[in-house]
Amino acid sequence: MSEPTIFERIVSGDIPARVVYETDTVLAFLDANPLAPGHTLVVPKEAHRRLRDLPDDVAADVWAAVDELAPRVEDAVDADGLTVGVNDGEAAGQEVPHVHVHLVPRFEGDGGGPIHAVAGAKPDLSDEELDDIADSIEG
Ligand code: 5GP
Repeated sequence: MSEPTIFERIVSGDIPARVVYETDTVLAFLDANPLAPGHTLVVPKEAHRRLRDLPDDVAADVWAAVDELAPRVEDAVDADGLTVGVNDGEAAGQEVPHVHVHLVPRFEGDGGGPIHAVAGAKPDLSDEELDDIADSIEG
């Protein structure tokens, strides 16, 4: 059996955390190294590495938690907005191999950027390439 992830250890109570939300399948707690006051992580209790690994019902539960918590987190710290994101895979910056949704409160003039800033150089794609990509995604 593989080592439990740090988030499984939080779920089991082995490691303390400031828990803000709990259901049978989902836990949310403050990030230990917050990017902003109120930075919250929403995790499925079961460890799944990638979004693609989540069973449909668990994915729905995670999103329901995000939906419920988003205004609560924003209001709790009197923020002006919220960035919601998932680092899905190592190439995307995922460090903990257990799906987690970041809720990062945002403030006017906080110096941060939009989600558009997370990827590298923008690709220059032709209409044909865009059509091919859209077809592949559509399946
Ligand atoms: P990732 O880069 O995998 O998307 O983000 C992992 C997040 O988990 C980071 O923001 C990091 O601060 C947070 N984190 C890592 N270890 C712990 C921990 O033991 N407790 C809490 N509350 N957050 C953690």
